Amino acid sequence: MSRPRVYKTEAVVLGGTRLGEADRLVTLYTQRRGKVRAVVRGALRPRSRLGGHIQPLTHCHLMLAVGKGLDVVTGCQILNPSIPLREDLVYQARGFYLMELIDNFCPEGLENRALFSLLVDTLEHLCLSEGGERVLRRFEVRLLDITGFRPELHRCLGCHQALEPVTNYLSLSAGGLLCPPCAPEQPPVHSLSVNAVKVLRLLQEADMETVNRLKLAPGLAAELEAALKGYIQFVLERRIKSGVWLERLRRELGPNGSLGGPQNGR
Ligand SMILES: [Zn+2]
Repeated sequence: MSRPRVYKTEAVVLGGTRLGEADRLVTLYTQRRGKVRAVVRGALRPRSRLGGHIQPLTHCHLMLAVGKGLDVVTGCQILNPSIPLREDLVYQARGFYLMELIDNFCPEGLENRALFSLLVDTLEHLCLSEGGERVLRRFEVRLLDITGFRPELHRCLGCHQALEPVTNYLSLSAGGLLCPPCAPEQPPVHSLSVNAVKVLRLLQEADMETVNRLKLAPGLAAELEAALKGYIQFVLERRIKSGVWLERLRRELGPNGSLGGPQNGR
């Protein structure tokens, strides 16, 4: 069966770079074809409507024409604009972190509807000023799950016994938890408190509503963030640049972690 020359799909714009005089090369995560690189012709011309619409973090409905090399975006209808996220530096950094994770985890052209839904759902909840970080943790855990890197959190990967409610150890190379006697055998490991393991198990199953109700003490939140960052870095064999930017922003802005959202007129 021949591939249709034109197709429609929902998509989230992950990012883009300049291409020649006035075009943009954009990376999209599409519902129907997974990650796609496509050209937006004339996007950099001041009057380009498409160029104005197809901005990073935007959730849209796209029409694309199949090209010889790259597909070409021919139409765009915005479903959820990126503007609220782009009005606050921390929200924006969270959004870019999400885009970079998807870009790094997903090969081109591989459809994954569960991941697309997770991405859209997460984007919608990123603007919660306190809850945004929990939303990111849920995304990380579910992303690992959907892409086949779900860490084992119930049994020790060394001795296969059920884990006791004590400090256990997340082994990056083994892909899950080790009990205290097994941990020294297999570095590198992150120690994980009883509560951190409980929250990670919850995040593997929880819907967004449950995550929004979750209250995490700052120490526990930091513990979870460090463990998941370490795990993801190990899986990808690289650091996520926007994650480093997000950490720096939060350090500079203090515990409230936000310059203020759209509500206060920025
Ligand atoms: Zn063990």
